[in-house]
This record gives sequence, C-alpha cells and structure tokens, in this order.
Amino acid sequence: MNILIVEDSATLRHAMCQYIRNAGHNPIVANNGEEALQLFDASRVDMIVMDVEMPGLDGFETTRLIREWLEKDDLWLPIIFVTGKNEEDDLRKGIDVGGDDYLIKPVSETILLAKIRAMERIITMRNELKRLNQSLIELSERDSLTRLFNRRTFDERAENAWKQAARNHEALAILIMDIDHFKLYNDCYGHVAGDECIVKVADAITQSLGRPGDIVARYGGEEFIVVLTNTREDGAYHVAERIRQNVAALNIRHRASPTSTHITVSIGGAVINHTAGTHLRDQIHAADKALYASKQAGRNRVTVKLFSPKVRILVADDTGRLARSIDSKLKQYFALLQARSGQETLSLASRNRPDVIVMNGNLKGDDAVDTIKRLREDSNTAQIPILTVCQDVNYWQSLELEIDGCFADAESPVELIDKLNRLLF
Ligand code: GH3
Ligand code: MG
Ligand code: MG
Ligand code: MG
Repeated sequence: MNILIVEDSATLRHAMCQYIRNAGHNPIVANNGEEALQLFDASRVDMIVMDVEMPGLDGFETTRLIREWLEKDDLWLPIIFVTGKNEEDDLRKGIDVGGDDYLIKPVSETILLAKIRAMERIITMRNELKRLNQSLIELSERDSLTRLFNRRTFDERAENAWKQAARNHEALAILIMDIDHFKLYNDCYGHVAGDECIVKVADAITQSLGRPGDIVARYGGEEFIVVLTNTREDGAYHVAERIRQNVAALNIRHRASPTSTHITVSIGGAVINHTAGTHLRDQIHAADKALYASKQAGRNRVTVKLFSPKVRILVADDTGRLARSIDSKLKQYFALLQARSGQETLSLASRNRPDVIVMNGNLKGDDAVDTIKRLREDSNTAQIPILTVCQDVNYWQSLELEIDGCFADAESPVELIDKLNRLLF
C-alpha cells in the first residue's frame, strides 16, 4: 500500500517511514498539510497517517479537505491521526472531521502496524462490498440468459437516449429483431438447445454493433431490440443488415424451418430524424410494424422505415397567406390544418387536437378574441398553445389573453417560425 505520512517533526517522520517500510508498504512523505494536499492530489494513496499539530494547515483541517475531495468521487480511504494531545474532546473532533482512528504519541511500531493492518482489513471489506453491489446492479439490469440488458433497463436507457436526441436534434434508429420460426426450432431440438441458440444470436447481435452509445436488450423471448443513437436511415439499414448476416453466419441448423436451412432473424427498423410531436413508444411501434413487414415478405430480411410523425399546426386564417409562409419554411416537419373562420377553428381544434394553433388576429367574420376565449374554455383545447399574428402587437398584449405569443403581421414571419420551433422542438 501507499501510505501518506503527514508529520512536521523530522525525527517522527523518519521513524514512521521506517516502520512502514518494515511492514512492506511504501511511505509517501509530507512535511505539512499543504504538501499533503499536493501529494495526495498527485499520487495514488491508500491510507493516511496524519499528525494533528502542524504549522499552517493542521491535521484536522487537512483531513476535512481531503474528505471533501474524496466524497465528490464517492471514494474513501482510512485516515489515522497521530497526536500529542490526550484530551477526549480532541479525539471527538478528530473523528468528526473524518478520522478513523486516533493514536497518542509516542506511537510504537507494534501499535502503528497493528492499526494499519486493521484499516487494511476494512479496505478489503469495503472493496468486496463495492464489488458485490456492482454485480447486484448488473444482475438487476441484465437478462440472466443472454446477459443483455433486460426490458426494464432498456426502457430507462432508451428513454434517456431519446431525450438526448431531441435536445441535440439528432436522428435516432430503433431495430427490433425476432428469430424466425423459433417455435418450430424448440419443437424440433428442445428447449435447452433453444436457449443456447438465443444466447448465440444475442452475441452475434452484440458483436454487430460498434458504437459505445448503442443500446441492445432482450425485449422478449426470442426478440431483441437495439437503439442506435445519432444514426440515419442508411446507417440503420447497414447495421441491421450486418446483424442479419452475422446471425445467418452462425450457421445453426434449423431443419424444421420452412424458409431456411439454418437459424435466421427478421429485422424491422424505424428511424426518426426529428423527435418532435411523438414518443419513443410510437417509434418502437413503427419498428415493430417494419418487423412484421419483414416476416410477411418471407423472413430473414431487413425492413427499415423512416418514421416521420408530423407535428400538427392549425392555422386559423381566411387569407391563406399565413399557411403559405409557414408551409414554405417548415413543410417537412409539420402537417398543416387550415380553418377559415372562428367557428371552423373551434371544431377543427376540438376534433383534431393540433399541437399548436396559429391565429390571424384579423380573422374575418368572427372575433378572434372570442374564439381564443372559447378555445380556452373547452377542456379539449384548453392546453393547446396559441400564437397570434396581428397588426398591433401592443394592443393584443394589453388584452391579456391566455396566449403563448403574439407576432406582428409580416411578409416573412421569421419570429413566428422561430417561436414555433422553440415551442415544438
Ligand atoms: P416467427 O418466424 O413468426 O417469429 O415464428 P416464431 O415461431 O418464432 O414465432 P412465435 O412468436 O410464435 O414463437 C416464439 C417462440 O419462441 C415461442 C417459444 O416457444 C419460443 N421462446 C420464447 N422464449 C424462449 C426462451 O427463453 N427459450 C426458448 N428455448 N424458447 C423461447
Ligand atoms: Mg506536529
Ligand atoms: Mg416472437
Ligand atoms: Mg420468432
């Protein structure tokens, strides 16, 4: 072990170094608290023997600082105080600031080494506990047969990856794969062989993935699921095809299969370029549908679909101009619904529940203000964000309506588009 000795007296330092060397450990020596902090930062230290009375930073203060550092990284190591003071209150303080034992000077070699051995035992037990804890976490996160993540862990991690993709405006791909005619395999070769086959397929899938951010899990009996972060359609197809080929290359004989002589998988993929206006479960559902398509088409194949749910905007405008300018900017991400009157706005909003309503403040024939109030009163539409476009923004703001933004009527509504982007992505 590397044992840091912090001691301002040269005689004691020398003696303790000798004791520690005699016991087969490696002493690192600091003359005071400041030096102890520097050495601690620069070297690997397993234990500290710390003098209390020192000029400058005393042993208590030095220990408090070291404990703070360690706690940040969830680390611990034993710190033994050595002091000339033999007062109960000092001992209490020493333990309070993070010391683990307290020796009174002069300290004999026998006592010091016995304490070091006792602390060493605690280190070993702590490490063992940490290791067990880690393996317990692993066990709860993983499927016992394949060692892949289980479904619960997948749900958690995939949700995080999804949120991250939304934040970074990145594409995200989901692949679902299912072993072909596996019931027949079990019937033909037995359940034990079936289990072995599942493990081999799981390994082949794992080995087909290259990036550290990829998430792979056992999703059901002979079904697996993969999340590929920051991956577009061509990349997803490429990975899926590699998985399909690697599984086929296992060359596991399947004499009962009507579609192949060996074990194969069918794969369905869904890729999303923009996560707005949808959920992870929708994309998983889309991947599942693609998997079904692969099965229908004869199995042992890949189907990857671009999953592009559109955010729905209801534009309440009798001129058509607003819809045109929004459409020209955001066509690829939005589906537009158009209402040409207040009445139509109310019925379309209630029936279709758009993600946002953009309203021309000069809606003819009806009162836009009245329509907004009625949208807010209807529980079906009360939560939908409303943006208005009008001639006099100050006047609209003075009305204190429950709206999410008011924009000046302009040929090219840059601010409105910007707000839509911020509201929905
Ligand atoms: P398809 O090509 O349409 O996917 O046909 P299939 O027979 O694979 O489909 P189905 O979903 O009907 O059957 C899946 C079978 O997988 C059912 C069950 O016998 C088997 N299976 C599910 N989990 C396990 C498992 O953990 N071990 C073993 N040995 N078999 C399993
Ligand atoms: Mg001293
Ligand atoms: Mg299945
Ligand atoms: Mg199957």
